[in-house]
Amino acid sequence: MADRRPERLEALRSRLRAGQLDGLLISSLPNIRYLTGFSGTSAVVVVTQGAAFLLSDFRYRAQAAQEVGDVARVLIEDGGVWERLFRLVGEQPGLGAIGYEAHVLTASGAQQLADGAANGRPWRFQATTDIVETLRTVKSREEIDAIRAAGAVATRALEHAMARVRTGQTENEIAALLEGALRTLGSEGYPFPTIIASGPRAALPHARTSGRVVGPGDYLLVDFGAVVDGYCSDVTRTFVVGTCDARQREVHDAVREAQAAALAGLRAGLTGRQGDALARDVLAARGLGDAFGHSLGHGVGLEVHEAPRLARTVDDVLPAGAVVTVEPGVYLEGWGGVRIEDDVALAPAGAELLTEFPRELITLS
Ligand code: ZN
Ligand code: ZN
Repeated sequence: MADRRPERLEALRSRLRAGQLDGLLISSLPNIRYLTGFSGTSAVVVVTQGAAFLLSDFRYRAQAAQEVGDVARVLIEDGGVWERLFRLVGEQPGLGAIGYEAHVLTASGAQQLADGAANGRPWRFQATTDIVETLRTVKSREEIDAIRAAGAVATRALEHAMARVRTGQTENEIAALLEGALRTLGSEGYPFPTIIASGPRAALPHARTSGRVVGPGDYLLVDFGAVVDGYCSDVTRTFVVGTCDARQREVHDAVREAQAAALAGLRAGLTGRQGDALARDVLAARGLGDAFGHSLGHGVGLEVHEAPRLARTVDDVLPAGAVVTVEPGVYLEGWGGVRIEDDVALAPAGAELLTEFPRELITLS
């Protein structure tokens, strides 16, 4: 697989020059992974025009050396990471303005930076937002393939688990079936806690899986994902356990139709608002506009929620190479709800599906 890290660092340096920054202090772990390959849970990275450093602690000595290689200089600091950081920055020639990730750093971290830049030091820290996140929005072919692989693991696990669903099981038991299958089929973990929402609980757009016992005729909303090579997939299907009634089918048909319209019409070059409208207009025409209370989709990659967004409030243009979810839903309080979610890669000509699983209403057992 092509090593994209050197070109990512170059793209970052070009952004920094455009923003008149001499360097960037990176504390977001997904951004660190994107730029250096380091997958541990404790590190900071400094990128300047001439150098890249990764500071971590003794737990990651071997892992950091192996994952980062010669893309960045790895420094292990067992004492004060901040002091080491300030010494490091002080050793670099010509550093004036150094950006930090204001959307990631804690308030106490920002205070450390303010203290470190005091005392007559020649450099200053400057708040930035989403510099690396914006680079990550446009995926390479390898990244899209990793998300597709995570999609394949997810849908195979769903097939395995749903064949074993019976009335009388709890939502937690069904989540265990699915999560066990995900691990067995090669998922590195779970991008977020698996959502199993049954019966009236399917009306909660972001339900927490509970001990509720699934009964005959219940909707079963399943929202989950897999992780492969660090990249996430995010998939939702809504089933009925036992036999479904006419209203359940009607609502499911409406959501499916809305999603089909979005999958057919979505492409790079639309704004987030135009993308969102592709599905929203279909539901509104069916009188279900008010029941679709969230946005149509979000970017997915090293994080399960990242840029860009498909939403009524977003006028940014969707770039080619973005990977987004398409997830219309209808939620009727006290009755139930339906969501159908797939992941697509955007090109000027249209949307390439990365997750494949039947979208018609399936009744289980
Ligand atoms: Zn989801
Ligand atoms: Zn999602």
